[in-house]
Amino acid sequence: MNTQPSHRLILRNGQLLDLQQGRLIAGQEVLIEGDRIIAVRPQSRVPEAGVQAYDLNGKTLMPGMIDCHVHVLASNANLGLNALQPNAIIMYRALPILEAMLGRGFTTVRDAGGADWALARSIELGLVPGPRIFASGKALSQTGGHGDMRARGSLLLNEPCSCCFRAGAIARIVDGVDNVRLAVREELQQGASQIKIMASGGVASPTDPIANTQYSEAEIRAIVDEAEAANTYVMAHAYTPRAIRRAIECGVRTIEHGNLVDADTARLMAERNAFAVPTQVTYEMLAEHGARFGLAQESVAKIEEVRLAGRNALRLFAEADVPMGYGSDLLGEMHEYQTHELKIRAEILGNLAALRSATTVAAQILQREGELGCIAPGALADLLVVNGNPLTDIDCLIGQGENLAMIIQDGSIKKNTLT
Ligand code: ZN
Ligand code: ZN
Repeated sequence: MNTQPSHRLILRNGQLLDLQQGRLIAGQEVLIEGDRIIAVRPQSRVPEAGVQAYDLNGKTLMPGMIDCHVHVLASNANLGLNALQPNAIIMYRALPILEAMLGRGFTTVRDAGGADWALARSIELGLVPGPRIFASGKALSQTGGHGDMRARGSLLLNEPCSCCFRAGAIARIVDGVDNVRLAVREELQQGASQIKIMASGGVASPTDPIANTQYSEAEIRAIVDEAEAANTYVMAHAYTPRAIRRAIECGVRTIEHGNLVDADTARLMAERNAFAVPTQVTYEMLAEHGARFGLAQESVAKIEEVRLAGRNALRLFAEADVPMGYGSDLLGEMHEYQTHELKIRAEILGNLAALRSATTVAAQILQREGELGCIAPGALADLLVVNGNPLTDIDCLIGQGENLAMIIQDGSIKKNTLT
C-alpha cells in the first residue's frame, strides 16, 4: 500500500517488454500515480514538473513476476515438523522468505496452503516486505491424504478444529460432503482468495502413494460449488491422469503439478479452460537437496516417480494448449531456487513462454488480468527494471535478483540501484 497516493513518478528511456509480441519496445515512458500505472506513452522530450523521474538508460522494463504456487510458511522441508513449530517461530521464519521472494522480482504470489488473510494484509499494510499474497488459508485434505502429516501409529497433528490451527500446517483434514462445505465456508470467511485441495497422493506426506486419488467426487463437487458461490475457484494438487481428470470433471480450475499427465487428459483440461501450474523446480531441488534439508525418508523415495515425468508434462501441456502458470512450490532452505523454474521452462518451452507463465498467464489464473502481470494504464504499478534482455537471456532473472536494478511494487520503490 502506498502511503502517498498522489505521488507521481515516471520511468523514462527503458525498453518495454512486450509479452504479446515477444519483443522489446524502445522510446516509451511509464507514468505512475499512487499504486497504479496511469500512462504508457512515447517518450516526451521534457519530463513533467513535479514528477520524480528515473532514467532507465535502455534497461528492460517488465511487469513484476507472479509465482502461482508457493508455501511462504514452509520454512522446514519436512512439513510434518513444520506443522509442529510454534506459531511465532513460523511467522518470524517466514519474514526472510517473503523478503527474498520480493528481491527476486516476485511482486505477487499465490500461496497454495498455509498463508492466510492476516499475513496477506500485513504485507498490504507495509508491515512486512514481501510479495502481495493470494492466500488459500489451509489446504483441504482428506484423512490419509496429502495434507495428513501423521506417521502411521501416530495421532499427533490431528487438528481439532479450525480455531486451533497451527500456523505451520499447510493443510487441514476434513472429510465428508457437509464437512468440506463448512470448511470451504470457513476458509472463505477467514479471507482465503481461492480454495486449495489435495486431490491425489503427494511427495511430502508419509502415507499416501502418488497413484491414489483423494476426496470423493461428491466432496470435490461440493467444494467447487461453495468456491464458485463465492465467485472464486478451486486449485487442486494432482499428479496422475486419473486424479486430474476427476478433478477437472468436478469443476476444478487449476491443476497443481500435473507431472504424470497424458495427452488425452491435457486435451480435456484445454477443453474445460483449465490451467496447469507445473512446479518442476521443486522436484529437481528435492532430488538434489531434499534429504540434506530434512525431507522425510518416505518422501525422498517418492521424488523420482514424479521428477522425470514432470519435464515431459510441460511439453504435453504446451502441445494441448493448456495455459501454464509459474509455480515453484519450494520448501525450507530450497526457497532460494525459486527463479530456477524460469530456466527449466525456458529450456523446454522457450524464454517467452517462461516469461508469460510468470506474468500474463499468472494474472489470468489470479483473475486479475489487466491489473497484474502487465504494463498498461490502470494496472497496479508492479515493475522490474532488468539489466539485460530476458527474451534472449533468461539468466538475467535467475538467482536472487542480482540483475534487477529496480523493483517497484504498488507504485513504491522497493529496490533501486540506478544512479
Ligand atoms: Zn502439492
Ligand atoms: Zn504445494
